Amino acid sequence: MKWKGWRKMSRKLSFIPYIPNYEFIKEQMQEDLKYRLTDRKRLTSLGRPLYERINVQIVMTQECPYNCPFCMERKNPMTGLFDAEQQILSLKKVLKEHPNARLTITGGEPGLYPEHVKKLVDVFKQNSNNVFVCINTAGYSTELNGIAHINLSVNDYVKPDYREFPDCTYQTVLIGNEMNISNIKKIINENNDAGSFSFRFLCDIENRNYDVSIWNDLQNDNKIKIDTFRIGDFFVYCTFDYNGKHARVTLGDMWQQTNNQYGNGYSNIIIHPDGKIGVNWK
Ligand code: SF4
Repeated sequence: MKWKGWRKMSRKLSFIPYIPNYEFIKEQMQEDLKYRLTDRKRLTSLGRPLYERINVQIVMTQECPYNCPFCMERKNPMTGLFDAEQQILSLKKVLKEHPNARLTITGGEPGLYPEHVKKLVDVFKQNSNNVFVCINTAGYSTELNGIAHINLSVNDYVKPDYREFPDCTYQTVLIGNEMNISNIKKIINENNDAGSFSFRFLCDIENRNYDVSIWNDLQNDNKIKIDTFRIGDFFVYCTFDYNGKHARVTLGDMWQQTNNQYGNGYSNIIIHPDGKIGVNWK
């Protein structure tokens, strides 16, 4: 399927059009941003939200007992000291203006403070339309079970047992040419009793180019059924089914987000450890 006219079809596609190179994806990101900056008029105290179901991330703490060399939090640490009460106040403030927000509780390692995670999730449920909430963890504490959906980070440096987190999403960063279809299939086949899978590109704030072959390979593989494909202002993702499992490949282009000309628009919200509210990953 060609790109021609795809924007008239839908912003979320049920197939992956042929992608010639990463430049092409960057052009689509710019198109998406242009469209949103023209179309989105609603004004909040933070500016103009470019997505209705906007992603809110609480970077709950910078603390983490692990030491992954590619850790984005360590390379670009968020500001301030952990302030649980201020995080709750900020979350309530954000939800008042964004009742359809999706919430991710991340770190650092949220499992260091499971009681605070529970409080944040309760605040989210009581003060929003409860669209979706998840916790990013490297599996430090099973006390997180049952609080919200768990994205369990697995890599060469942290190897939690996903069986201790029933129905979790097995989430892993694939570096360089590890992001290939046979590797993805191997991981799904070898860990087939995990709930679902999330494969993420290793994204660095300086990186301006990525290998696009995975998108074309996913589309062309007859054992894979594409569910959704989307390019947003700084991200690309697709969801698909393989061997009875649901999976996702995501690329979040941090260079693009840092350099996009947002004006008063914003495509995500960050609540920092000290409760400061920022937008566009700042
Ligand atoms: S587990 Fe996550 S927060 Fe901790 S060092 Fe690894 S990537 Fe960073």
